[in-house]
Amino acid sequence: MSRIAVTTLIVATLCVLGLAIQSARVSADGVPKGKDDVEGKIKPAIAKISLPIGERLVYRGSLSKAGVSVDAGSATFTVTENAAGQTVITACAEAEKFGYSLATKVTSTLDESSTRPATYHYLQSGSEQREKKMSFKEDLATYIREKHCMEPNCRDRGHFILRRSLIGKDKFVHCGDRDCRIPAHRHWKNRHEHALGERHFDMLSAVYYARSLGLKPGDAPIEVPVVNDHDRWIVRAEVKEGGRIKVPAGKFPTYKLTLEPRPAAGTKPNDEFKGLFGLNGTIHIWIDKKTKRPVLVQGKFPFGPMNLQARVELDSVSQTDKPATLKSD
Ligand SMILES: [Zn+2]
Ligand SMILES: [Zn+2]
Repeated sequence: MSRIAVTTLIVATLCVLGLAIQSARVSADGVPKGKDDVEGKIKPAIAKISLPIGERLVYRGSLSKAGVSVDAGSATFTVTENAAGQTVITACAEAEKFGYSLATKVTSTLDESSTRPATYHYLQSGSEQREKKMSFKEDLATYIREKHCMEPNCRDRGHFILRRSLIGKDKFVHCGDRDCRIPAHRHWKNRHEHALGERHFDMLSAVYYARSLGLKPGDAPIEVPVVNDHDRWIVRAEVKEGGRIKVPAGKFPTYKLTLEPRPAAGTKPNDEFKGLFGLNGTIHIWIDKKTKRPVLVQGKFPFGPMNLQARVELDSVSQTDKPATLKSD
């Protein structure tokens, strides 16, 4: 395996784990029936998603196989509020080993009513750059990706380069090299539109939404609809007693949340759920009973023909401006 691949995996694992951790509980919506729609359609009233503004959680991850464990870097999750009063969730992961740097930043911004995600932004920097977005409206999610412009009839002069000619005149032509790395040649393009019949979440907001729900052992499993790139998933979440768990951040009495994703709405049955960054299959998350913070995540990380065991532990918790209390009603 190449170093790039390994590093990517590790970063992916961390984020996925961290994110997936909480996404378990997302779908439990428990949406009360009510009439609340501008277009006169009858739709369920949607409860506000209450998040712990100012909270900062740091996780450390490791990957293991046959008793050999590798430090896989760290991931930081924060909740803030922007100038417009919207809740912003940010997840940053960094791989620190293998002589390689790769950082991934994922941001989910809730809409003004705090009932759904408004935008999702994925930015991977370092050796392999990738950037993509998802914008959410009530009935539509649009997947947007930044790519080199390859439009056949594009007239944007910013995309043009001078082509030298030995025999004729030099000419300005549209750059046709999609790997040219000239930032001005890149543009945002809609890649896919998802028509939605109900509220959906991106991977990150799903996680935090789940946290705000307070599932307990014995509760019926819930299902969380998630949109990711071209794909849609239903993540089934079930909670059991998890016992006491010891991680660097402390000892916690926990619930164990198990997440099982399945493809939905056009996503092929044999597609693998890739979480936010590539984790797939069933994921187990231990959640502190009191704060609802994920303290430990375990799952499989497929790597070529192998499955690596991923383990992500809560390392530290801090709080900026406002107190981090999860509303529990
Ligand atoms: Zn162009
Ligand atoms: Zn170019």
